[in-house]
Amino acid sequence: MQYKIALIPGDGIGPEIVREAKKILDTVCEKYGHTFLYKEVLLGGASIDVHGVPLTAEAVEEAKASDAVLMGSIGGDAKTSPWYQLEPSKRPEAGLLGIRKALNLFANLRPAYLYNELRGACPLRDDIIGDGFDLIIVRELTGGLYFGARKTEEIDGVRTAVDTLTYNENEIRRIAVRAFETARKRRKQLTSVDKANVLDSSRLWRSVVEEVAKDYPDVSLSHMLVDNCAMQLVRDPAQFDVILTENMFGDILSDEASMITGSIGMLSSASLNETRLGLYEPSHGSAPDIAGQDKANPIATILSAAMMLRYSLDLDREADAVEDAVRKVLQKGYRTVDIMSDGCVCVGTAEMGDRIAAEII
Ligand code: NAD
Repeated sequence: MQYKIALIPGDGIGPEIVREAKKILDTVCEKYGHTFLYKEVLLGGASIDVHGVPLTAEAVEEAKASDAVLMGSIGGDAKTSPWYQLEPSKRPEAGLLGIRKALNLFANLRPAYLYNELRGACPLRDDIIGDGFDLIIVRELTGGLYFGARKTEEIDGVRTAVDTLTYNENEIRRIAVRAFETARKRRKQLTSVDKANVLDSSRLWRSVVEEVAKDYPDVSLSHMLVDNCAMQLVRDPAQFDVILTENMFGDILSDEASMITGSIGMLSSASLNETRLGLYEPSHGSAPDIAGQDKANPIATILSAAMMLRYSLDLDREADAVEDAVRKVLQKGYRTVDIMSDGCVCVGTAEMGDRIAAEII
């Protein structure tokens, strides 16, 4: 099959880690007989340097014309980079928010997976970790408290602030569908997280999720209150497969979940819209402190490319092959400096990419 991929190297370590992810995708093409047509797109600081703005209309058009977008990371050192002398709407991060909005990316998927080889980095006790965990958080990204009306005013001499949490049933339905579809590609267990004992928006959330569940009889659905979920993540993370939740709860829970995996250089993410188009990127930033030194861990970006194969291109077998290759390289003891431990072999960004590519079968 032939697919169009927009590649956004971005800033800092972005070009180095995207180069390695492309190496992996090229290997997948060779082994599985696909063709990926790449189009490089500028975003963030790289776009400011060339066009004076962090995102151009052409970049948006290129992304929209693609089957998927794979991104490194954007941004520079806020203290030293000239990009941060610009007004906020012209800075690198505005480009990222702009493209997310232009592509209407309402679903954010963040896996938290503990590799047995990296369990030393997990802050949880060994008896809690057990055989490890493998969960994914599906977070609603464009609604809720972060997008509702807000104001601060003085009422009878008292400063008062209000933020509004609004969801309509269509917004809930489309993210619920995404979560059920995601669960179908995994162990088919969905936990919908809300605060239905207090919030009206959560009660609507729960009832719409129940309606959507009727179309997915093969997926088992349960509901959990957000405060309990925050506890369960550190008490017994292995109980979860797919967690579905609204924007703010997802913001907090996905950071908690990533923390228990222990290593930022390993965490992938996907942001999806109603079509198959998605934007795939590592959860970390552009790490300007190590840019250009062959020190960056490319695995989060490589695993993001695996998510792209699975969720935008429907190439599950190929995604499995990439994930297995990452696991094998870790099992053989190769580590970039950020995940280095005693008895392992420290390799640079490019060698890590080569070794993972060599394990793809
Ligand atoms: P960061 O994630 O870039 O770096 C935090 C620390 O983790 C640094 O010490 C860095 O060296 C290390 N690190 C991060 N990724 C690594 C990797 N793949 N391999 C090895 N080490 C890695 O966060 P920051 O320093 O707060 O931000 C730097 C820039 O990145 C800022 O401009 C910020 O706005 C931007 N940023 C971009 C995104 C994005 O593109 N989605 C996300 C977060 C931050």
